[in-house]
Amino acid sequence: MEITFDEYFAYQHHAARLPADLAQGRDAVRHPVVIAGGGPTGLALALGLANYGIPVVVLEADDTVCSGSRAGAFTRRTLEILERLGVIDEVMRTGHGWTTGWTYRGDKEVFRFEMPDDANQKYPPAISHLQNYIEHCMVDAAAGRQGLIDIRWQTRVTHLQQGEGGARLDVETPLGGYAIDADWVVACDGGRSTVRDLLGLRMEGRRHEGRYVIIDIRIDTEGMPLGRRCWFDPPSKPGGTLLMYKKPGNMLRFDYQLRDDDDETEETRPERVFAQVDRHLRMLGVERPWKPVWMSLYRASALTLDSYLHGRVLFAGDAAHLVPIFGVRGMNSAIDDTHNLAWKLAFVQKGLAGRSLLESYSSERVHAARENHRFASKGAEFMAPPSAPFRLMRDAVLSLCERHPWITSLMNPRQHAAIPLYDSPLNAGSDDTAAFDAGPRPGDILRECPLQREGRPAFLTDLLGPCFTAFFFSDDGRVPAPLAAACEAIAHRVPFALQVIARRATAHEAAAVDATGRLFSLYGARPGSLYLVRPDGHVMGRWLTADADALSRAIDQVVAIPEEACHV
Ligand SMILES: Cc1cc2nc3c(=O)[nH]c(=O)nc-3n(C[C@H](O)[C@H](O)[C@H](O)COP(=O)(O)OP(=O)(O)OC[C@H]3O[C@@H](n4cnc5c(N)ncnc54)[C@H](O)[C@@H]3O)c2cc1C
Repeated sequence: MEITFDEYFAYQHHAARLPADLAQGRDAVRHPVVIAGGGPTGLALALGLANYGIPVVVLEADDTVCSGSRAGAFTRRTLEILERLGVIDEVMRTGHGWTTGWTYRGDKEVFRFEMPDDANQKYPPAISHLQNYIEHCMVDAAAGRQGLIDIRWQTRVTHLQQGEGGARLDVETPLGGYAIDADWVVACDGGRSTVRDLLGLRMEGRRHEGRYVIIDIRIDTEGMPLGRRCWFDPPSKPGGTLLMYKKPGNMLRFDYQLRDDDDETEETRPERVFAQVDRHLRMLGVERPWKPVWMSLYRASALTLDSYLHGRVLFAGDAAHLVPIFGVRGMNSAIDDTHNLAWKLAFVQKGLAGRSLLESYSSERVHAARENHRFASKGAEFMAPPSAPFRLMRDAVLSLCERHPWITSLMNPRQHAAIPLYDSPLNAGSDDTAAFDAGPRPGDILRECPLQREGRPAFLTDLLGPCFTAFFFSDDGRVPAPLAAACEAIAHRVPFALQVIARRATAHEAAAVDATGRLFSLYGARPGSLYLVRPDGHVMGRWLTADADALSRAIDQVVAIPEEACHV
């Protein structure tokens, strides 16, 4: 159930279009990658692939971005990825950064959490924003990608057939249907994925207790705190839970739980929902006029496919997995999927790697989905206990947490963060990570740190690009000849950059200077150390003393011989 009362912003509506080269009911061009679904996952993947020069067609059933706002909180990892996709400036300009969450029992604050933050960070730990506005920014960015991204609006996938070395999709548009051939199809068509159904695949997992009404309202939010506020048993809703946070554009978001014996049809009548909002605002002493924008009924599910690679079809985002929204893992994890997939699909498509690289996408992201389920399910069970003993424990935690602060760790909502890939088959087996006393391990994402670049303030992640990156830590910027030669040879084979970090500002050849020594110490590095990082920002391996042969082997292990790549 979704009701839209008002537009969040002036949506652009897009006309249907047939391919320029239509012959006998078929798009005459065979495309490297066709993405089914132009929601946040499909759009992020298209922008990610464009960074590697891979042209994509996006088939989107609607004529505009999502009319409801859905995801409302975006974490630091997502912001880092949105920067790579070229949409961060507008997202940061229009979003609200936040760091704090409050939990109340009745109307009394019992717990306050701070999102992990420190002076090294480029972005806040989270921002509140509108999913649909971020989609809108992505559509704008796609238009600027020099003809690499072709979004076909009002184009619905209805049929799929896999063949030797590719797949054919049938689509319907208001102007007529046609078939389209692709080397690879990526299903980003959401929780009710048509592609998943066409392949006869089912997601496994569990559906959680609890039904939640979600409503966004427009109201003057001046002076209201930024951040997540959660009430258990509030005077405005005795026996229930209610979440509220401020969104950009003078908006408030409410998620509140229906009681088990509540009649769903009755309780989702707009008048009933508006009365609940009124009661809560009155409880907070807010007497300002407001208007509804969108409302929906939500049930939490923790479901995933057991593989995201089926022949020539890959799955990402809600088409691959559904994650309870507690801890904001839905869209955030979907964006992470695309960052993992874009470089791998690009490498395979360019013949630089074999199918095993796509298998690593599947295994890494299925693992991430299960970890996200584990964390988010704890949040879902705390909000809506699935049984009497769970409820007893939840209520005990709430009543004891004021007197016993240690107990509050049980109620921390554990917001989304990148899932480490410690068991990834891509991690260099032959590094000497055990010798480090600090820094990200293989499988972790990079830790942010400020430094100087060409005399100006910059951040470590500014040095990443759509390529493998080797960070060489040096005293004066000089690189040993064997390492420089190995890096040059690697760069001839695959997208690769050597980034030198020098301790001294007088350094030559240095890409960046760590004059404060903060980066060296955060990474447990000394002059001569090397970190190897994947194009999606996960560390692959690290050496206290750089080893040129081990570096080459680590890259070889990821990219396949061209013969294998021919038979993917
Ligand atoms: C009520 C609600 C609240 C949420 N709140 C949060 C939150 O606070 N934080 C968070 O991180 N996540 C949240 N989520 C989850 C988040 O919205 C999803 O994870 C996110 O939308 C997934 O993006 P997607 O692109 O994979 O799927 P979708 O957003 O569903 O996009 C799929 C796209 O595919 C298109 N499509 C479907 N079928 C076809 C077809 N046959 N052919 C062509 N196109 C097709 C659709 O039109 C749509 O544009 C929420 C979800 C809901 C429902």
